[in-house]
Amino acid sequence: MSDFDVDLFVIGAGSGGVRAARIAAGYGAKVVVAEEFRVGGTCVIRGCVPKKLMVYASRFADDFVDAAGFGWSLSPPQFDWAKLVAAKEKEISRLSAIYRANLDKAGVAILDSRAEVLDPHTVRIVAEDRLMRARYILVATGGAPVLEPDVPGREHAITSNEIFDLAELPKRLVIVGGGYIAVEFASIFARLGTKVTLALRGDNVLRGFDEDMRVGVRDALRHAGVDFKFGMLPMGIEKNDKGFGVSLTKGEFIEADQVMIATGRRPHTHGLGLEKAGVALDRVGAVEVDAFSKSNVESIYAVGDVTNRVALTPVAIREGHAFADTVFGGKPTAVSHANIPTAVFTTPELGTVGLTEAEAREACDCVDIYEASFRPLKATLSGRADKTLMKIVVDGLTDRVLGVHVLGDDAGEMAQLLGIAVNLGAKKADFDATMAVHPTSAEELVTMRTRTARYQREAIGEGGPGAALADP
Ligand SMILES: Cc1cc2nc3c(=O)[nH]c(=O)nc-3n(C[C@H](O)[C@H](O)[C@H](O)COP(=O)(O)OP(=O)(O)OC[C@H]3O[C@@H](n4cnc5c(N)ncnc54)[C@H](O)[C@@H]3O)c2cc1C
Repeated sequence: MSDFDVDLFVIGAGSGGVRAARIAAGYGAKVVVAEEFRVGGTCVIRGCVPKKLMVYASRFADDFVDAAGFGWSLSPPQFDWAKLVAAKEKEISRLSAIYRANLDKAGVAILDSRAEVLDPHTVRIVAEDRLMRARYILVATGGAPVLEPDVPGREHAITSNEIFDLAELPKRLVIVGGGYIAVEFASIFARLGTKVTLALRGDNVLRGFDEDMRVGVRDALRHAGVDFKFGMLPMGIEKNDKGFGVSLTKGEFIEADQVMIATGRRPHTHGLGLEKAGVALDRVGAVEVDAFSKSNVESIYAVGDVTNRVALTPVAIREGHAFADTVFGGKPTAVSHANIPTAVFTTPELGTVGLTEAEAREACDCVDIYEASFRPLKATLSGRADKTLMKIVVDGLTDRVLGVHVLGDDAGEMAQLLGIAVNLGAKKADFDATMAVHPTSAEELVTMRTRTARYQREAIGEGGPGAALADP
């Protein structure tokens, strides 16, 4: 008789946990997954999926206006926030049910309860106050938004957890933060008719993304009506009879119907009992893991946002799958976190893969830049001022494409395919040799012949460190 009730106890039925549970069960393991909120996790319930549905909703605002340039006339369109929230809820409930059914089909038992770790093999199922012994424990508890900075009245603020289900569309919304979640919601609400103010510590949005793209996103948001407060953070939030008042550094005061804090997310390990089991956490509470997602405790693994590697759904899924292959499938699998394509779903959207120009110039002796900025065909008749921006970052010595960045319609879709090319080690010459699809915006990626800049380090170039040389 085994010492264990199950082979695998998964804590958290989000992207990483569900994939790991299903694949492990497929290998014949006896698997249980505990979920304290809703099966599907952040992505399905209050992340990627409902957000993208709201992005679609927001883009109709532009489409109705643009239609006039193509001969359509419409009576003034009306938007009903409550209808959107209800439709969104129906869809995420459907998806959550599919996740549940798939776990069932795979033979995974679902416990609708919080779970906590007691020791390297014991988990407490909180709702039933029951203990279970597991050969392996997988921590897949994700992350949670932080309410920072810690200012008086911050309890009046909402986070991305609450924004999807507001009872009413706010007329005035203050968003604090400059990361991708902050700018995506700024873009959504500005188009739905809300007056959006974005307050952030830095002097531009999207720190870590390519500089030219950051400028492009900022300008597009400004064009959509977003009011920026750069270099400003809230000093306090007060509730008054008109809504909320936000005092910002530099003495500004803004009235709003809602204040959303989107300054970051933190691994969800608080109160989980991992320290008791001897699991090492880093300074933000993330589970420290090796390339196979194993913690310092032999029987405890962790995948997804709780490890604070790259907090994206496909990454959590890949890590969960690799964990199951490694532990139950006899195929030790490490996940590569290089060249992960990703998108920021502002309007227009930003799709990106690989190194930014700054990262490439730091890493390589010679970097070539190919850049294009043009008005998309659709904008010629719609009259919209949007610009599409594309940038290819190339190793000037090997011709290898190190990164591609696109700001424009469908850039997320382009990033997915560009990710294949960049991961295969494509050279700029391979891009050039590829026939264009005409007429598209993406064709520009294979027709950019003229280098816009070359940066060489002093040792090999005549232009001095980081000097841009004139093109031949
Ligand atoms: C607003 C927003 C938009 C996003 N947009 C994108 C996007 O466009 N593309 C993208 O790739 N990623 C996006 N993300 C990130 C993505 O949602 C996460 O990277 C992904 O969900 C991580 O999966 P996970 O399995 O690690 O954790 P999660 O999906 O968060 O799942 C963790 C689960 O564990 C449960 N849980 C926690 N503690 C316990 C416990 N003690 N007991 C039982 N259950 C517990 C939680 O309730 C949750 O369901 C977005 C995130 C947010 C917040």
